[in-house]
Amino acid sequence: MPQYDYDLFVIGAGSGGVRAARLAGRAGAKVAIAEQVQIGGTCVLRGCVPKKFFVYASEFSQAFRDAKGFGWTVDWARFDWPTLRDAVQNEVNRLSGIYATNLGAAGVEMIDDRVVVIDPHTVRLTREGRSVTAERILVATGGHTTRPTTIKGQELGITSTDAFVLEALPSSIVIAGGGYIAVEFATIFSGLGVDTTIVYRGERILRGFDHDVRAHVQADLQRTGVNIICGSTIEDVSGLSHGKKLVTLSNSMKLETDQLMWAIGREPNTANMGLESAGVRLTERGAIAVDAYSRSSVPSIWAIGDVTDRVNLTPVAIREAVAFVETEFHGRPLAFDHADIASAVFSRPPIGAVGLTEEQARAKGHKLKIFRTNFRPMKHIVAGNDQRVLMKMIVDAASDRVLGVHIAGVDSPEQIQLAAIAVKAGLTKAQWDLTCAVHPTGAEELVLMGEP
Ligand code: NDP
Repeated sequence: MPQYDYDLFVIGAGSGGVRAARLAGRAGAKVAIAEQVQIGGTCVLRGCVPKKFFVYASEFSQAFRDAKGFGWTVDWARFDWPTLRDAVQNEVNRLSGIYATNLGAAGVEMIDDRVVVIDPHTVRLTREGRSVTAERILVATGGHTTRPTTIKGQELGITSTDAFVLEALPSSIVIAGGGYIAVEFATIFSGLGVDTTIVYRGERILRGFDHDVRAHVQADLQRTGVNIICGSTIEDVSGLSHGKKLVTLSNSMKLETDQLMWAIGREPNTANMGLESAGVRLTERGAIAVDAYSRSSVPSIWAIGDVTDRVNLTPVAIREAVAFVETEFHGRPLAFDHADIASAVFSRPPIGAVGLTEEQARAKGHKLKIFRTNFRPMKHIVAGNDQRVLMKMIVDAASDRVLGVHIAGVDSPEQIQLAAIAVKAGLTKAQWDLTCAVHPTGAEELVLMGEP
């Protein structure tokens, strides 16, 4: 008789949990995965995937304007929100089904339930009301959007989770926050014709990104009609007639708006899960503290993805899942290296970034050579579109190694994936420059930046 019901019990069927369960199942382990909402998690159901479809939809308004410069007449263009919303929901449900099929094919048992941890080897299925045991428990419960619970009337606002399934497209929206989600949804809503305002407490949106990139994106959002109010927070929200809201800011400004969205960060899903009583140590932010192998303070309990609050990105959760399975089910200890992870913001223009920003590199004591170029892509010239591209390369003066690449401009999320290979490999600027350009492209500028 085996000592436990399962070799592995995964809590949470998002990108990280599903990958770990599938790989462990394929390695021959007896695996169960529990999910309380729907298989797929934040990325597939209410994050990256639906967001990207919404971004595509929002880009058509500019594309129609650009088309005129190339001789097209598209004056009939109209947008229908329910068509987009329902098509995207159909697609994410289809993807959720594929995830379930793949889990089944790997022999993983899927459990539709909320699970709490009872002790280092036992979990309780709360709806079914029974407990099961596992040699290893993997927590991959992700995170959730936060609300400013102390602000009067905050419940009148939505979060990104609600934004995907709104009954109707608002005529105006105020978005609180200046991070990834605020900027991406400002891009989406304004592109769809919604009068959009960002209210951000700092001096400039997208803290953590390179300062030139932040300035470039903020200026372009403003140029294309997004109202950005910095150095201010929302202090009070009250309801008006016809569902409108009156938002009062710390600078005493009052904004009347059709919709209000909170995009002030996400928190790890660890509450009421029995983790602390089972001995799992949490960080100050309520995330599960783990070592380089994603093992928690309880040797039989691991955690991956946003619930660990390391680098909160889907591909990172997936790599942490792969490393966990390699370590525990293939006997090949593997710690995922969190350095030089590229990321993209689907803003207007989008951002692709990898490696150190100028500020981070200086703070680490590097002497730097900074290469920068700012140009209007050839397509935009004939289109009569004033959006420009900014490319910036941070180079260590002593070793010539490229420490970071930061691009704000059309196609930059695609470009940065390839640039990330060179940055991760530690190539020098001279090696980048040995690479012949691909012409005519925007990306060729990356190998043509001659003078610092
Ligand atoms: P972020 O942490 O990126 O941004 C939160 C924003 O809210 C910041 O501008 C922050 O200001 C502000 N803020 C925080 N608390 C308050 C408050 N009490 N009052 C007013 N403003 C506040 O979180 P997001 O919610 O945008 O995204 C969560 C995470 O999801 C991201 O960190 C990212 O890892 C991931 N994500 C990734 C995407 C991608 O890869 N494209 C897309 C979407 C999400 P300040 O800067 O001053 O702290």
